[in-house]
Amino acid sequence: MIPNAIAPRLQTSFEVDEAEVEQALLALMRDALRPVALGLGVLYGVLALGHILVLPPAIKWVMTGVAVASALLFLGWHVYLRRVTVPLSWVNPLGLGAVCLVLLNSLLHLWLTADPLQTTNIILLIIAAGLLFLSRTWLLIAYGLCLGGWLAVALLSPPHPSWVHFGFALISSLAVSAIAFSARRSSLARLERLRIQDRLQKAELQRRAVELETSIGVGQQITSIIDVDALLNAVVMLIKERYGFYFVGIFLLDPTGEALVARAATGYNARELVEREWRVPKDPHSIIGWTATQRRPYLTNDVLTDPHYFYTDWVPNTRSELALPLLMGDVLLGVLDIQCERPGAFRLQDIPVMELLANQVAIALHNASLYHSEKARRLLAETLYEVVRALSRTLDFSEVLNLILQELAEIVPHDRAAVLLRQPDDTLQAVAFRGFPPYITLKDIRVPIRENDVFDKIRRSHRPLLLEDVSGRYDWQSLEGLPQARSWIGIPLVHSDTVIGMLSLAREEAKPFTEDEVKLAVTFGGQAAVTIANARLYNDLLIFNEKLESMVAERTQALQEAYNKLERLDRAKTDFIGVVAHELRTPLTVLQGYAQMLAQDQALKALPYQQQLAEGIHKGAQRLHEIVNSMLDMIKVETLAEDMKVQPVDLPMIARQVGETLRTPLQERRLQLSFSWATPELVVMGDGEMLRKALQHLLINAIKYTPDGGKIWVEGRRVPAAESRLGREAIELGIHDTGIGIAPEEQELIFLKFYQTGEVALHSSGRTQFKAGGPGLGLAIVKGIVEAHKGVIWVESSGYDEERCPGSHFYIQLPA
Ligand code: ADP
Repeated sequence: MIPNAIAPRLQTSFEVDEAEVEQALLALMRDALRPVALGLGVLYGVLALGHILVLPPAIKWVMTGVAVASALLFLGWHVYLRRVTVPLSWVNPLGLGAVCLVLLNSLLHLWLTADPLQTTNIILLIIAAGLLFLSRTWLLIAYGLCLGGWLAVALLSPPHPSWVHFGFALISSLAVSAIAFSARRSSLARLERLRIQDRLQKAELQRRAVELETSIGVGQQITSIIDVDALLNAVVMLIKERYGFYFVGIFLLDPTGEALVARAATGYNARELVEREWRVPKDPHSIIGWTATQRRPYLTNDVLTDPHYFYTDWVPNTRSELALPLLMGDVLLGVLDIQCERPGAFRLQDIPVMELLANQVAIALHNASLYHSEKARRLLAETLYEVVRALSRTLDFSEVLNLILQELAEIVPHDRAAVLLRQPDDTLQAVAFRGFPPYITLKDIRVPIRENDVFDKIRRSHRPLLLEDVSGRYDWQSLEGLPQARSWIGIPLVHSDTVIGMLSLAREEAKPFTEDEVKLAVTFGGQAAVTIANARLYNDLLIFNEKLESMVAERTQALQEAYNKLERLDRAKTDFIGVVAHELRTPLTVLQGYAQMLAQDQALKALPYQQQLAEGIHKGAQRLHEIVNSMLDMIKVETLAEDMKVQPVDLPMIARQVGETLRTPLQERRLQLSFSWATPELVVMGDGEMLRKALQHLLINAIKYTPDGGKIWVEGRRVPAAESRLGREAIELGIHDTGIGIAPEEQELIFLKFYQTGEVALHSSGRTQFKAGGPGLGLAIVKGIVEAHKGVIWVESSGYDEERCPGSHFYIQLPA
């Protein structure tokens, strides 16, 4: 375990190992030995010359010999030290050797001369030893030798008062030498310590730089990876590669938040670890669990003594372990775990850099999952678009439902799904399902909705319901023969603020639906609800349409029957009219004959009253005859098209002829009849007799419905195809009057058989009298004749008015 917060500061002071300082000091002394040997060599060479010149003959040659030997030895040393770097352990003995050699020379000189003055050589030597040695022990040995040697020579030499003086001087020199030694040693030692610290700091800096560089390098390499698995694998590979660890693993928090699952690892057996989805519970008993619960790094440099460490066959040789939490803000994503084969592999100061790395991994992971959810969202949008597109192709209810389940499987993986719709009797009916075994049919199953059951909860909250494990729930209704569901989610189908049903999704393994999946499913559910509602509406519309169609068919049939009946009736009437007309003709002829005879009877001529009666009978019979003729004409007209005698008919001519026949009534009624022809060539192919009849009826009507003194005029012209109502060139006749006119609502009806305006009671027997009335056949006959000639007839009038007399304008167009 490590302290709570590790400041990511650079370490500035280091523990300096004193042995290392000692070694450095030895190295310094070794460097000094070479010039010392050279100096002493030269010094003894000079001394040898001095001895020859100065010393008395008795000791001259001995001393000179020793000096030459010493000089040679020192010079030889110098040469040797130049060539060879002696081990540091030799440095002090060599130094002592040099001291001994100089001491021997000095003692020999002292002994041979017995002159206390020569003590100065030894004093110089003691001071020089204080400046040469950097080791207290060896210096003391040197001091001991010098002091012992001098004492021995002094005691053996003849007594002299100066010995005591020089003895004091010698002791003083020892003090001076010791002071010089310690001053020199401590300053050199401090210098070396600083130098070592500097080196360590430099090394640390360098190491940090490399680590940082590595960490940034890893960070840079991973930030561009957007696939989560690829990212995790890249992270473990890169860390292992750059730092050379034994095992690097990433454990991510599973959706329940209760365990960490190995998602990527590299090193010994790592692949298997990931494949088996090794799970570590999120509790403080293991190193990874501790890191996840405490959200702090965990470092152990000897796992064998660590209570949190659990041995595993996957990574058997671990000795040190460092676990780092992967945190994105306050959210724990997982743990980065690093293991090493040697104990003490991690240092406290490594942690900040590794934390930095872990942070980068967390950010990359977060980005990747953001991208992932963004991608999922895009996928949803695309799928929804596809669904809408697919759904727009069909409104077939069951096809829509199947399509919904099919598309849903693409965005939220599951084992089974069903669309359940609420029915009017407050039950839930499965209308579509997917992933169920074929031996289970849900189609007819209706589940009653009970208070507080899953659908009731969804219906009331309008929100999805997520059950992580339904296997142990007492209120869970599972179907016989169906594998047990574990994770379940119910998505409301909301339309117009009403929950019309739900989407039910189940997984057989305890792998709960993630928050993202729920969101996707809810969005999808919204779209599905609209589609279902539309399909339902369309379905209702189809049913309504079918009903409507059968109703229309029924009505059409009824109408047809009624029409047939009417036709039969009409025919019966026509037949009856025909029979009556025929039957009436013979007695009428008889009646007319007798009436005529009566009128011409000489005896009756004298009796004016009887004469008047006879004339009345004659007129009535004649009128009746005309009506009977009209009836017969009416019947004839119906079959006219078949037995027409077609010949060229000069319309102006027959019009004038008809006018001629009406001269008397026109005169009687003081009516003016005129003709106007746009061109005299107005000939049509047709039945002259019938066309004459038609004109006659029209002119008689004009006379009938025009007050006395009025005007009647007939016009004729050719009409070009563009203007013609026949769609081809026509000859048009217009029969105009200044009569009482016809109300617009009557203008079509007057062409029907037996249709008349006005009251039947007003009918008088005169056929050309004003408003005489008739059987209502005239215009029907005219229309029949015109249509038999493939022509048209219509009337124009501004209305019926007996006072103003707006007049009527009948038009006939016949093919030219
Ligand atoms: P009717 O035997 O009654 O004349 P028609 O078929 O000839 O029967 O005419 C039908 C009705 O059309 C008439 O009752 C009359 O009201 C109206 N009608 C026909 N011709 C004219 C006209 N020129 N002016 C006004 N009304 C007319």
